[in-house]
Amino acid sequence: MSSVSLTSVSLAYPGGHLGLADVDLDIGDGEFVALVGPSGSGKTTLLRTVAGFISPTAGTVRIGETTVAGAGRDVEPERRGLGMVFQQHAVWPHWNVGRNVEYPLRRAGVGRAERTRRVAEALELVGLGGAERRDPATLSGGQRQRVAIARAIVGRPRVLLLDEALSALDEPLRDRLRLELRALTRSLGLTVIHVTHDRSEALALADRVVVLDAGRVQQIGTPSELVDRPASPFVARFISDAAVLPGRLSGGVFRASGFPIEVPAERLSAERSPDHRARAHRDPAHPVHVAGERAVEIAVQPEHVRVVPDPAGPAVVESSLFGRSGDELVVRWGELRLRSRASGARCAAGERVRVEIDRALVFEPDPAQHAAHASSQAEPASVGA
Ligand code: ADP
Ligand code: MG
Repeated sequence: MSSVSLTSVSLAYPGGHLGLADVDLDIGDGEFVALVGPSGSGKTTLLRTVAGFISPTAGTVRIGETTVAGAGRDVEPERRGLGMVFQQHAVWPHWNVGRNVEYPLRRAGVGRAERTRRVAEALELVGLGGAERRDPATLSGGQRQRVAIARAIVGRPRVLLLDEALSALDEPLRDRLRLELRALTRSLGLTVIHVTHDRSEALALADRVVVLDAGRVQQIGTPSELVDRPASPFVARFISDAAVLPGRLSGGVFRASGFPIEVPAERLSAERSPDHRARAHRDPAHPVHVAGERAVEIAVQPEHVRVVPDPAGPAVVESSLFGRSGDELVVRWGELRLRSRASGARCAAGERVRVEIDRALVFEPDPAQHAAHASSQAEPASVGA
């Protein structure tokens, strides 16, 4: 049984802007799902739709067995069995910690003895045992965020919704709270939807990650699926800082357009996860083969860009940051900029290098993006004419 289920959910804001477009998402009981995507991609909109602060214009939202939105239903947020934590710890400053945490129980009409017991238990769980009488003003940012988490779990929700809940905190506190949150939600068997703009946080914490762009689901997968088998160049770029190069396949070899880059067949991979964008458009996903002769795009992740110092090399190291297993490099090769994070590489800024590609993923060019690109390029020319 899935715990949260969105079926063909769309949301148009007043004025027609599509906040969500045909979103399908099934989250299992006890699953920890992270929602990532560029700013404005619809992460908060999706969370607020599940919470019930906004109603979808199409589609249905189910929590457990209950349809809470769509199909003529619109269950109010308080009755959806959810806990919520936002970026800014919404802790009421004029109430002590206990009163803050107790609030959802008061609203639900839980008796005083039971409230006291459950508040103590929730505070214990977030590492603030005995803090009932403390004034929120005397707490650190991290402690206030724990109070917000205690308040979100005190009502024993089925689902916990977190919107950038850790983003306002500084390291190393954030790192610690991240680990604690994961342990806590596992031990309580909570289903979690965690919105974050931090890709590493999403990959580190989640069982599955949902990548959103422009209100559409681009891919849903485990962290390793997203890294090893991105469904589109967008996902490869967003999740892994991949470089995307257009070019041609011919005789099994990829040749970049306008660039002396060649990648032989044995270094090309066309294996991928299902493309949710294709599914959302109701197109069959195109199988991709390395054979044949045609225009394609390749995505190259920084881990697979090998940079070799070479005084006669065609590229120059633009920046070099020390990394534990190898430097993080940005290499400029004519117009092209590539990131490299190959293990063992040590190069200084300004050094001349040659670049080898150890592995690249092949994608069919996206016709929609192609058209948009072509028309945006055509404009300046027509203005000049
Ligand atoms: P994210 O959380 O991923 O940054 P949001 O869900 O907040 O993105 O926003 C998605 C899109 O919807 C953005 O383009 C944003 O400008 C738009 N949007 C958000 N809230 C409203 C609103 N109340 N009215 C109109 N447009 C909105
Ligand atoms: Mg947001």
